Amino acid sequence: MDFRLNETQEMFRDMVRNFARKEVAPLTQELDKKAEFPWKNYKQAAELGILAMTLPEEFGGVEADSISYALAIEELAWASASVADSIMLVEALTYLLHTYGTREQQQKWIPPLVNAEILGSFAVTEPNAGTDAASMQTTAVLDGDCYVLNGTKAFINNAPVADMAIVFAVTDKEKGPRGGITAFIVEKGMPGLSAGKPEDLLGQRSLIVGELIMEDVRVPKENVLGKVGEGFKMAMKCLDNGRIAIAALALGIAQAALDESIKHSKQRVQFGQPIANFQATQFKIANMATEIEAARLLIHKAAFLKDQGVKFSKEAAMAKLFASDLAVRAANEAVQIHGGYGYTKDYVVERLYRDCKITQIYEGTNEIQRVVIARHVYNESE
Ligand SMILES: Cc1cc2nc3c(=O)[nH]c(=O)nc-3n(C[C@H](O)[C@H](O)[C@H](O)COP(=O)(O)OP(=O)(O)OC[C@H]3O[C@@H](n4cnc5c(N)ncnc54)[C@H](O)[C@@H]3O)c2cc1C
Repeated sequence: MDFRLNETQEMFRDMVRNFARKEVAPLTQELDKKAEFPWKNYKQAAELGILAMTLPEEFGGVEADSISYALAIEELAWASASVADSIMLVEALTYLLHTYGTREQQQKWIPPLVNAEILGSFAVTEPNAGTDAASMQTTAVLDGDCYVLNGTKAFINNAPVADMAIVFAVTDKEKGPRGGITAFIVEKGMPGLSAGKPEDLLGQRSLIVGELIMEDVRVPKENVLGKVGEGFKMAMKCLDNGRIAIAALALGIAQAALDESIKHSKQRVQFGQPIANFQATQFKIANMATEIEAARLLIHKAAFLKDQGVKFSKEAAMAKLFASDLAVRAANEAVQIHGGYGYTKDYVVERLYRDCKITQIYEGTNEIQRVVIARHVYNESE
């Protein structure tokens, strides 16, 4: 067993770290205050070739392995969770297009997505179908050469500004999620397609999240992504991959919380000495550092298993659960170490405290991660 990163992974991490610290971090606080999409960094990421890290070179990717991808997301999230999240979305969309798309679909959509010429959405959640995604009500009914889509998707990243969306809809209610849900590529400008206003988010305020509304949207048959009826399986596969990335994003936030805490505790003097001298502070730092190390190991193990082509659902769920709970604990402790200053927008930890919460909710809530883990553990015990 070798816990060291290889040379390629180290070089990739350092390249992304350099970008994140030099170009992303200086803009993050201001963009958060204005709740603006990080366009400049997004375009720069495309130029660097990190909008689709794991894709083959033929499609503009750099064929990064899963550990390199996790390292990159951690580094980006250290500087801005919103930037990391936006890049993860391109990864998810291009993964679906590359794995399940026809040649025409790949050629039409992958290049503009990875070159940051367009924005896309991944639309599963609905107002009444969140955790229970299989109970989605958006329908797609075949009519001649088109499917007619009706329904509303909720909390969709990029929906208010997206040029395209991969939308999951019910094509056969009788069959349920196994065989009754299909993925469609829905395009901006299709009659009947509209978006709600952006949500006013607690954290990751540079994301643009909102409803995607479909009223008799006629989607040509050629825009079916993958096989009819296979949509739910595709979405779940995508979520499995995404859990490692969300874990890495949460880890980046936790690492930033620790780094800010170390810096502040060395500078802040009370009772005639830096608060870093107090054991109460040191214990907080020690707990954060230890849990960060544990989260990193869980994430890298899940990523390693994925690259070996073996099952990694349990490990991805464990990594996501542990790292996101850790991010919330670490950001909380970081605010505590900053005292009243940490409660103001002048300090990065205030944003981290808000940015981390969603990592316990999206890509499957942490309650659901526990359900997944428990199911695996019981099955393994039989
Ligand atoms: C900022 C943001 C961005 C998002 N981006 C996207 C996106 O791009 N695309 C997309 O499709 N979705 C997206 N989502 C939606 C996100 O995935 C859902 O919010 C999430 O799946 C939870 O669904 P819900 O909000 O409906 O909560 P609910 O499902 O209503 O859950 C409420 C609570 O009940 C608990 N609960 C529910 N069922 C069970 C159970 N069986 N056992 C135990 N506890 C349970 C949950 O764990 C949770 O604590 C986004 C959400 C946000 C806030």
